[in-house]
Parts: sequence; C-alpha cells; structure tokens
Amino acid sequence: MYDKSNVFFKILSKEIPCDTVYEDDVCLAFKDINPQSKIHVLIISKGLYTDFTDFASSASSEVVYHFFKAIPQIASLLGISETGYRIASNIGKDANQVVPHFHMHLLGGEKLRDL
Ligand code: 5GP
Repeated sequence: MYDKSNVFFKILSKEIPCDTVYEDDVCLAFKDINPQSKIHVLIISKGLYTDFTDFASSASSEVVYHFFKAIPQIASLLGISETGYRIASNIGKDANQVVPHFHMHLLGGEKLRDL
C-alpha cells in the first residue's frame, strides 16, 4: 500500500525542494541529500510505486522501459558515462529501504568501494 506521507511524494508534489538534474514524464532525478559518493543521484518514478518489485510488476512495459532507458542518459548528463557508475535499488527491510517510493541510486564520480 503506497503511503503518501513519504518524502519523495512531497518532492514530487513540490512540497519539499530538491536539486533536480533531470526530469521527464516518467521520472525525476535529483541529488541525494546525504551523498555516499562524489556523485549520488536518486532517480524516482513519477508513478506511485512503493519499491522496485511494485514498479516492475505494476507499471506498464512502456513506463518500465522508459525509466531504464533514462538512466544512461542521466549518467551522460552527469559526465560519468565513460568513467563508470553503479545503480542500485533497496527493496524492503533487509535492504534497509528507508523511503517507500520506488527509486534507484546512481553513484559515481570516483572509484567506488567494491560491493
Ligand atoms: P533508501 O535507503 O530508501 O534506498 O534511500 C533513500 C535515500 O533518500 C537516502 O540515500 C537519503 O539520503 C535520501 N533522502 C532522504 N530524504 C531526502 C530528502 O529530503 N532529499 C533528498 N534529496 N534526499 C533524501
């Protein structure tokens, strides 16, 4: 069950500001408030999905396709296509998902620690 009290819903509805790096009809990308690497951007769906599982199973194929096609474009805008980057999504409590609105982390801009 999607809970509209989460912070990303407030960002989407412009109740809370964010440092936007990219936006289209399907997703919004902005800088993480507590970056874990030199570049740390969050890419969130505009549709209201609680996590990746919900997004992958409930969003239309077109939306899922569009969302994932946007990621390398965002990496390119950030200038990290050549140097490399990591994408990750936390799902649920064992992954320590904090914000219950589907998002991907995009990390880069420096050599990242191994997983
Ligand atoms: P999760 O642990 O849910 O995968 O990641 C949530 C991320 O959202 C964290 O990296 C956290 O720093 C970030 N975050 C939480 N609140 C805000 C906020 O108000 N603004 C921004 N830009 N990032 C936030």
